[in-house]
Amino acid sequence: MDYESLDYNRYRWNRMLLSGFWLILLFSIFLECLYLTITEIPSKEFILIYMVKPTIFQLFTLVLAETLIRALKGKYQDYIMIVTSSLLAFILAYIHNSIDYLLLGLFLPTMVSIFYFHPKKMIFAYFITLASVYLMYGINDVMNENITLVGLTTITVMFSSFTLIGWGVISRGRELISHLKSSFESNQELLVKTIWMDKLAKTDALTDLYNHMTFHEYFEELIEQHESNRLPLQLALIDIDNFKHVNDTCGHRAGDAVLKGVAQLIRSKACSNDFVARYGGEEFAILFTDKKLSDAIEKIEEIRVHISELTHASLGGKPVTVSIGIGEYSASDDKERFFNRVDAALYKAKNSGKNRTIIATNYAGTQLA
Ligand code: GH3
Ligand code: MG
Ligand code: MG
Repeated sequence: MDYESLDYNRYRWNRMLLSGFWLILLFSIFLECLYLTITEIPSKEFILIYMVKPTIFQLFTLVLAETLIRALKGKYQDYIMIVTSSLLAFILAYIHNSIDYLLLGLFLPTMVSIFYFHPKKMIFAYFITLASVYLMYGINDVMNENITLVGLTTITVMFSSFTLIGWGVISRGRELISHLKSSFESNQELLVKTIWMDKLAKTDALTDLYNHMTFHEYFEELIEQHESNRLPLQLALIDIDNFKHVNDTCGHRAGDAVLKGVAQLIRSKACSNDFVARYGGEEFAILFTDKKLSDAIEKIEEIRVHISELTHASLGGKPVTVSIGIGEYSASDDKERFFNRVDAALYKAKNSGKNRTIIATNYAGTQLA
């Protein structure tokens, strides 16, 4: 599996680690001050050897690490941090000739390597730590005298055991990440599926417009909105003329192609706030929500004229026409009354010659074209 996310925010974490290293430097100065009060070594000598000297070396190490970290924002950053921690521990242990310091310092690079959840980096920290211990044992006389070979073996075995525990922490962390990732992915898949199913349930497969059921849901919502906010609302019902004849003469497939073409045209002419649905077999509905009635009429007329000019290859290059009823929701309406008024206007358009738009009124309809 891909653990790229383990590198997430790496620079920030390394920055925090480096700040931690600076703190170690401050703490060691503080502790050296405490030792200064109890040591039998003359103050001047103690300050020079046990305070100034390690501080200079540590300062140099930290400044070098700061520079490299800034320069190398890539993957070597983590190794620089491990080496830096190892050097800090080495300097402290070497200068103070202290077994205590050495033992504490042993863990530092390994602890740092756990930060990265990366087995390779932990192996690196393990070997760099062992190398520094053996080096120290070889070059530092006090250490050499105080730690026997058996002691050194004990340190190695104990350190290896702790590293193994660290290894366990890393493995468990990686397993958890892998588990979280796969459950996140399956959740995401489910979400996509739900959205897809939702779309399927709401749209008509042939034309990709909203279906009858969604039209009614939306229609109801818009009426509620109109009643509370007085937002404008117009409804247009569009019915293809003589469509049965189209099917009878050119076939059902040709009819389907015409439905698709007409639907596509309506959608392309409608504005983003207009709601377009395939209301029935060869009937479409548009709900206008942000227009004056005159603008909605202008838009619907534009659509009607374009449909009558749209040629269909499946009909041998002939166009079809549509009849349209359009009306605006008024205070005396409810959903059903409004719809019936518009439907009556459509009926009137059919009965008065087709290929025309009729505006629904409370009384007689007005013919437009
Ligand atoms: P009018 O001008 O009065 O509207 O006449 P019309 O023939 O268009 O109306 P009618 O209601 O008599 O016929 C509608 C036809 O639409 C009948 C039906 O076979 C056809 N139709 C409905 N849905 C589909 C469809 O999905 N594909 C095809 N190809 N035809 C369909
Ligand atoms: Mg019809
Ligand atoms: Mg029809």
